[in-house]
Amino acid sequence: MYINGKVTQGKASEKIDVLNPATEEVIGSAWRGTPQDVDAAVAAAHSAFDGWRKTPANQRAGLMHRAAAKMRDNHRALVESLTLEEGKPLVEHEEEVWWTEETMDYYAELGRHQRGLVLPPGDAAQFNFVLEEPWGVVGCIIPWNYPLLLLAWKLAPALAAGNTVVIKPSEFTPLTTLKLVEMAFDHFPPGVVNVVTGLGVETGEPLVKHPDVKMIAFTGSLATGQRIASLAAPMMKKLHLELGGKDPMVIGPDVELKVATRALAYSALLNAGQVCTSTERVYVHDSLYPQFTEELAEFVSSLRLGNGMDAGTEIGPMLRGHFREKVENQVADAVKNGAKVVVGGERPAEFDKGFFYKPTILVDVNHSMKVMTEETFGPIIPLMPYKDFDEAIWLANDSQYGLGASLMSNDAKLVKRFFEGVQAGSIWINDPLTDNFAGPFGGMKMSGQGRELGEAGYQEFLQIKHVHWDMEAEIKEYWYPY
Ligand code: NAD
Repeated sequence: MYINGKVTQGKASEKIDVLNPATEEVIGSAWRGTPQDVDAAVAAAHSAFDGWRKTPANQRAGLMHRAAAKMRDNHRALVESLTLEEGKPLVEHEEEVWWTEETMDYYAELGRHQRGLVLPPGDAAQFNFVLEEPWGVVGCIIPWNYPLLLLAWKLAPALAAGNTVVIKPSEFTPLTTLKLVEMAFDHFPPGVVNVVTGLGVETGEPLVKHPDVKMIAFTGSLATGQRIASLAAPMMKKLHLELGGKDPMVIGPDVELKVATRALAYSALLNAGQVCTSTERVYVHDSLYPQFTEELAEFVSSLRLGNGMDAGTEIGPMLRGHFREKVENQVADAVKNGAKVVVGGERPAEFDKGFFYKPTILVDVNHSMKVMTEETFGPIIPLMPYKDFDEAIWLANDSQYGLGASLMSNDAKLVKRFFEGVQAGSIWINDPLTDNFAGPFGGMKMSGQGRELGEAGYQEFLQIKHVHWDMEAEIKEYWYPY
């Protein structure tokens, strides 16, 4: 773990093994942190807070740029370490590490440019202004599917805004996070950045409940988000929650089949479908449904499954066996209720190790099936035809989630109906899953609250204080006696 500027075992006595999902081999281990380790990390972050919040923003920016530079010096090592513990192909981790580095620079500059607000006063002698202040110690709880990127989207704005942090990485992918923090943040004042590894219940919950932790920035499943919200409620903590999704893609009647099928394959199968904004249900205009299905099946069948470390691998394994079983159960449920498997629908025979699952296309699906309503988080593409566009929008909105939604179409009238009618925090037209540093990212409905990225993602880490200052100090006519 990394507490108060030091690598430490803390009070842990056991380790948790980390597996390579492509080979099932143990590639390392991390300490199974305890509630006492959380206490120590929070105490360090708490005592570092006053110094860090008073550090001029320009100096904070300098330290953050230096962290980004150290990451760039170690870029390839971070990429390989991520592929070994998370399984994505190297090319996808190249992008993740690049995003991590750039996010550090982006928020370093945003912090430098932070500005307050002066308000029109109620009287000439008064001065009214708004201050933005950091919350204090922020607990950052991170999932396994983008261990560094989703950390950076919290850590960078939190630090730029003057907060100190305690990071709780996923127990499945703690190794690269530890490498990153030990290597890139060792020039920060001790206690500003801390990492406690371990299980959600043993380290995540104590972090959420700790009275000195003022804000929790969490990305993960809906169930864990609900648990965290219930634990944080008695203390009215600031919550920033990025939860699950069931993102739809609508294929307009005017698409070029080649473009639309490639876009869909990418958005559904990136990281073996283990992306919060993966396309998980697809509505295809019925005029092109048969040709679309055929073209998609041919393309998806050509994708190369393999170990993420091998050049040429396009789709890696799933993270663990129990995530693959959930996918298998959803496919079985769909087939039992009338769906047909067009491609895939099974484990690949060529690997005797690793949590691989073939990219799968399902047809004859409907909204009574789990695969169309529950989060899948795997490489499944269920296709459903629609007749008119209002029906497509209705289907897209028929979900408890509202994270992202994509449309493939160049018809401006359809595009407008789509972005006005669909309830989702991100709308992608003709380019699914593409993020933008300045573009706020987050969910509507049960996909969460708050936004990451952009100025909105910075403001989350600041609280607002209004100062009303009367410079005359005279008795007012509106005071007693009336
Ligand atoms: P998860 O909820 O199981 O775990 C996320 C983190 O929470 C881990 O660090 C875990 O140890 C910790 N945790 C677990 N139980 C906890 C508890 N009781 N108290 C505090 N912390 C606890 O999620 P996961 O399997 O790691 O990630 C996959 C999920 O994350 C999917 O549902 C996916 O949609 C979601 N996700 C959302 C976004 C987004 O931006 N909205 C991005 C990526 C992933």
